[in-house]
Amino acid sequence: MKAVACVAMLAPLCAGAQPPRDYPVKPVPFTAVHLHDEFWAPRIETNRTVTIPFAFRKDEDTGRVDNFIRAAKALRGEPFENHKYPPYPFDDTDVYKVIEGASYTLSVHPDPQLEAYVGGLIEKIAAAQEPDGYLYTARTIDPAHPHPWSGRERWILEGVNSHELYDLGHLYEAAVAHYQATQNRALLDIALRTANLLDQTFGPGKRSIWPGHQIVEMGLAKLYRVTGDPRYLSLARFMLDARGPDSGEQGAGNPYVEAHQKVVDQTEAVTGGHAVRAMYMYSGMADVAALTGDSAYVNALDKIWENVAGKKLHITGGVGARAEGEAFGDNYELPNMSAYNETCAAVGNDYWNHRMFLLHADAKYIDVMERTLYNGLISGVSLDGTTFFYENPLEATGLASKDQRSPWFGVACCPGNITRFMASVPGYVYAQRDDALWVNLYVAGSAEIKLDNGRMVNVTEETRYPWDGAVRIAINPDEAARLTVHVRIPGWARNQPVASDLYRFVDGASEPVTLRVNGKPVPVDTDKGYVALTRTWRKGDTIELHLPMPVRRVAANERVAADRGRVAIERGPIVYAAEWPDNPQGQVRNLMLPDRAALTAEFKPALLKGVTVVKGQAMALAYDAQGKIAKTAQEFTAIPYYAWANRGRGPMMVWFPVDEAHAKPRPYPTAATTATVTVSGQSRRNPRTINAGEEPAASSDPSSYFDWWPAKGTAEWVEFAFEKPATVSECQLYWFDDTGRGEVRVPAAWRLLYKDGDAWKPVAAREAYGVAKDAYNRVTFPPVATSGLRLEIGMQPNWSAGIQQWKVK
Ligand SMILES: [Zn+2]
Repeated sequence: MKAVACVAMLAPLCAGAQPPRDYPVKPVPFTAVHLHDEFWAPRIETNRTVTIPFAFRKDEDTGRVDNFIRAAKALRGEPFENHKYPPYPFDDTDVYKVIEGASYTLSVHPDPQLEAYVGGLIEKIAAAQEPDGYLYTARTIDPAHPHPWSGRERWILEGVNSHELYDLGHLYEAAVAHYQATQNRALLDIALRTANLLDQTFGPGKRSIWPGHQIVEMGLAKLYRVTGDPRYLSLARFMLDARGPDSGEQGAGNPYVEAHQKVVDQTEAVTGGHAVRAMYMYSGMADVAALTGDSAYVNALDKIWENVAGKKLHITGGVGARAEGEAFGDNYELPNMSAYNETCAAVGNDYWNHRMFLLHADAKYIDVMERTLYNGLISGVSLDGTTFFYENPLEATGLASKDQRSPWFGVACCPGNITRFMASVPGYVYAQRDDALWVNLYVAGSAEIKLDNGRMVNVTEETRYPWDGAVRIAINPDEAARLTVHVRIPGWARNQPVASDLYRFVDGASEPVTLRVNGKPVPVDTDKGYVALTRTWRKGDTIELHLPMPVRRVAANERVAADRGRVAIERGPIVYAAEWPDNPQGQVRNLMLPDRAALTAEFKPALLKGVTVVKGQAMALAYDAQGKIAKTAQEFTAIPYYAWANRGRGPMMVWFPVDEAHAKPRPYPTAATTATVTVSGQSRRNPRTINAGEEPAASSDPSSYFDWWPAKGTAEWVEFAFEKPATVSECQLYWFDDTGRGEVRVPAAWRLLYKDGDAWKPVAAREAYGVAKDAYNRVTFPPVATSGLRLEIGMQPNWSAGIQQWKVK
């Protein structure tokens, strides 16, 4: 096996003809870029040696590989052990994605054992393919009883939920990667058989169906590049153009699958639109635009990008603010604790922004790509490579199960996406066209770059980026040649976090960026975010770039309600978070960071595999017994956001209040806040949220709540066991109710009891037991001395119930 110099993201067929038209700028393939830095190289190695084998094992242990074996048995008419359909119709993709990641590592790191294992998987996949090319284990295993999302016949529920085309999209990405890594056609041939079936089935004069979950568009573009067969490009384009409100297919008009408008008419990441689907669709549109020259796609993408970068992008680069529908929220709806920011959406955001750069040669896209890459994307995997985040919130109580990384998920899209993305990171560093070169990311390493004009240029970078902004770049052409080297000056070094008015630095200008060529200063005049250095380059020529990296405060647009009166901390490309292990009493969410507080940076080689931390003096706020706010100055330490939740579960915060009005003082400990909470039933939610002192913004506030869902119409209870007996005379209940998005409503009735010896006795309530939404429901009663309280609630028929907060006086 010989590594082939192909690119992960674009994958031109090395041995075949280039398509007649493609992106105006081309990435330098990851196989030509060798990183030996302290930041990425160890991560890529952990991905290769730990995460990829781990994810394959999980694919085996969770039956995802067995699904192919069961489908093959069904095709041969052999009995299979049970009639259970696969848990989800998209589970095939988890195998494909890890094959893709493994193939990328094989491209640069021969490993006969891994190659043989992948070969075995491909044989299992081949055996599960139906004679006409159809490949979808969720149906083939038992066509008479397919998974209910799949529909009775092929494709009929594709526009909604069946994921038949989604599975194939991931198959195509894996197949092209595997072919390019090994020159073995086995998986590619499987993929081409499915693509030929699609070509026979869909298109003008045939069936008009578009993917309910996008990605087949990107996959087909890769098949086109690798084979040169124009049918695959036509099909990719057809599947984009078929999407919309008028097709009459299931899902037509549905914003959740971005079918509310024709794709060329779309102007925003629509509210309620599934974020991962959107990112893959925009990436596919960019591919088809590049390959066809169709400017209508580009015009739509430009508008959509302005909307996302201007109104729907978290400071970490995360997208898809809402858990409900894993979707984009409204403009400026960028919550912190409830931010969803799926890891897959971050991966997709980088796929998309990289493609936008290749279309426009503008560094504003690399600014978003870099922000996502160093923050909200790699936060999705633990430092040891074995646990993952599906959601990437910007604030945590530490009480929710999502505040802890998980080794796997029922829906396991994110770990597989990490395996394939991490393996291809070197492909994002450089790009080229004719006699021009773009240096987009600063990573120590070397690259052998073949320009379109046939010249070879060796480029080496020496830097400690992202911890240090000094970068030394050596340009070594094979012979002296006139070239333009575009040196990216990151937005964060030009006082512009993102090219929009969504975020701004609030602490004045940083010291200026300096640039030297062979020791001589060069003016830092940027065009589209680059300094273009056009000259005759000779072996040994060097560029020295100095990007000052002070600790900086960032504020969000005032329209972002969640960030008002708050600042985030950045240094270079890194966004910071305060986490419990580094701060007194494990508390961070009661901190306030006044504007005058000086912040300093310090590299800690032994912490979290080596990070620069930010330190300073903050104020810790707490309520005293009289209900007044007490302020205490204390040392404050922040770590890179991506590294949080590697030391257990606890509070975390990215946006720091700058004044008392926006701070969240720690609640004064009361009998209730220190009580042990127990609840009836089998809820997956942590009952500790009930008395944690979080003030809800509304009954529907998704930040921190308890509910009994999916139980409905039942009688339930909550008990507080006090640390020591207390005299109480008042309770306040704030009910959780997710009308409009879930199945939880205020209860039908409730009452309060206190513990008298071993018996529970009702209190003599003076008021009715209220069930008002968006407010505390207060009940007073004659004082009782007791060791505990019990709340009994009866749900409304067919609805569940839940509690935001229960206070006791
Ligand atoms: Zn995911």
